[in-house]
Amino acid sequence: MEPGPDDGIALAAAHRLVAAAERVTVLAGAGISTESGIADFRGPNGIWTRDPDAEKLSDISCYVADAGVRARAWAGRLRWFGRQLAPNAGHHALVELERQGRLHSLVTQNVDGLHHLAGNSPERVVEIHGTIREVVCLDCGRRGPAEPTLDRVRAGEQDPDCHACGGILKSATVSFGQHLDPADLARSFDAALSCDLLLTVGTSLTVYPIADMVARACSAGAPVVIVNAEPTPYDALAAAVVRGALGDVLPSLVQTYMAPDQERFGNT
Ligand code: NAD
Ligand code: ZN
Repeated sequence: MEPGPDDGIALAAAHRLVAAAERVTVLAGAGISTESGIADFRGPNGIWTRDPDAEKLSDISCYVADAGVRARAWAGRLRWFGRQLAPNAGHHALVELERQGRLHSLVTQNVDGLHHLAGNSPERVVEIHGTIREVVCLDCGRRGPAEPTLDRVRAGEQDPDCHACGGILKSATVSFGQHLDPADLARSFDAALSCDLLLTVGTSLTVYPIADMVARACSAGAPVVIVNAEPTPYDALAAAVVRGALGDVLPSLVQTYMAPDQERFGNT
């Protein structure tokens, strides 16, 4: 990605805005995890960009209707867990933001659990599209850790069913066609309305309703800073748009903060 003529100005504006904020709500997307080796959906190397057929795996009606789709999904989950994925500098920068006492909420569209693994407090994180680390029965609603079901797949079951009711099991992620948890959505929108800065990181801002956090933050008067490798539909609404790799940009954005007592000390 070549830097453009306005990139330095945008970065300086983003630094100023992030440094001045005390209640930051972050909306994270798949782009923050690409540097951990997890492909996004719509980026240049995205899963759907390379294989449009893979979209079926994220569609609940295909999943329910087709045992072959479920078998493919379970095989994919097994490979995913085999990779021992770790958080990267972008995730760690969001932990630093929390350590500074400035993270209001971290709403993530990611299902990979890497914000928790990096060290953000679970009570600050809203996993609005669920988590791959748990499994849920689509019939009786039972939910539990993914590992025991993955063991059954490792042992040869292609499409493991619910032991309690015989129903279809799926990872506890929200597929297209499934409803978001209303409490999580309300919390996310509230976090957009009550922050003093909305920072969006690594999201194409095309998945609704959560992308609407941007318009809500704007309507409440909070500036929006967008950090993403590619343009988003909300760039014109943002106070600053930074194009860059999150592993570079986020640590530098977060580190420019000067705690109030540091500032006083500096002024004496
Ligand atoms: P998206 O794939 O639509 O967009 C990701 C954006 O991140 C792209 O615009 C891309 O240009 C940008 N990007 C990629 N790597 C980057 C980097 N290193 N630095 C800066 N920008 C980078 O992702 P989305 O908006 O989150 O929506 C996709 C949906 O898919 C979400 O609902 C999410 O639940 C799911 N998803 C999750 C994961 C995950 O958990 N890691 C991975 C793929 C998809
Ligand atoms: Zn069940």
